[in-house]
Amino acid sequence: MVTAALGRRPVLDRDRVLARDRALARAREAACAVVDPELPMLTLADLGVLRDVAVDDDGGVVVAITPTYSGCPAMATMRDDLVRELEAAGFADARVRVVLEPAWTTDWITPAGRAALAAAGISPPGAAPRRSGPVPLQLVPARRAVRCPRCGSGDAVVGSEFGSTPCKALYRCLTCLEPFEHVKEI
Ligand SMILES: [Zn+2]
Repeated sequence: MVTAALGRRPVLDRDRVLARDRALARAREAACAVVDPELPMLTLADLGVLRDVAVDDDGGVVVAITPTYSGCPAMATMRDDLVRELEAAGFADARVRVVLEPAWTTDWITPAGRAALAAAGISPPGAAPRRSGPVPLQLVPARRAVRCPRCGSGDAVVGSEFGSTPCKALYRCLTCLEPFEHVKEI
């Protein structure tokens, strides 16, 4: 009977949608747990690098990420870590897609990520410079409004434009005299 066939179809569809939703939630949870190799107090979600997690009809997971900057040595590690975490969550052939547009900016670091940086003694980036068109090359160090993550003083001097990683600059607080790293605005 036609009515019976029509009556059954929505149930099957609903089961399939529910199964996919559950798979997507599991895949998201796994992908969101992956941390940045250079700033391990931040997940890739906190960093704003994780752009999308999708599950296709065959249950395959596709994760989209945007590199922090081209040539960032951590990118290959991020990709491997994502694939490994998803494998552990039961997604055998997860794929990682790299999205280059729009370009990542430190403005994408979430408020939770900024709090995690500060809690780890690293000064979070301020507002990133707005850019459109060609980027002017500066040969003098950038001036930044930096606040000491230990004592909150805004009185700090740059010691080196490069900290333990190229994305951080090394500062010294003139109030508590402690050195600290600052994530550079890009
Ligand atoms: Zn200080």
